[in-house]
Amino acid sequence: MRIEDIIRGKGAGVVTVEPGASVEQLVGLLGEHRIGAVVVSTDGVHIEGIVSERDVVRELGKQGAEVLQRTVGDIMTANVHTCGLEDTLEETAHTMTYQRFRHLPVVVDGELRGVISIGDVVKHRIDQLMDERNHLLGYLHA
Ligand code: AMP
Repeated sequence: MRIEDIIRGKGAGVVTVEPGASVEQLVGLLGEHRIGAVVVSTDGVHIEGIVSERDVVRELGKQGAEVLQRTVGDIMTANVHTCGLEDTLEETAHTMTYQRFRHLPVVVDGELRGVISIGDVVKHRIDQLMDERNHLLGYLHA
């Protein structure tokens, strides 16, 4: 299975936030959309960073509630790992597991085309394994 199959199913919509937005606004977005990370982008197309709930929690621990008045650009990760539509589910699962993050923006020709989360990866991997299992059971009982 390829990333394009997952994006076709879930859609290419991505929640983005400008780097100058406050961390308080970011927390509002995470809650409103019930997501764990937001791509940082001024124009909604080119990626400047990624910021997840983990970044907020880490900085809350260091700075306390004052972090809510800082900007997203202050706490985001600027070196973003991405994937392409042609990448496989297995490659993506491997990257997330070994790099230890749960979100991968999908990029085509430098432009943002979606986000894959660890939840998407696990769901499609389980579906794949269940299909294989049912196929094998059907074969055994035929
Ligand atoms: P996550 O597991 O996605 O909540 O993120 C854990 C940490 O990795 C946070 O510091 C994020 O800013 C960072 N992070 C998340 N996704 C990516 C990514 N695709 N590339 C680089 N860093 C990321």
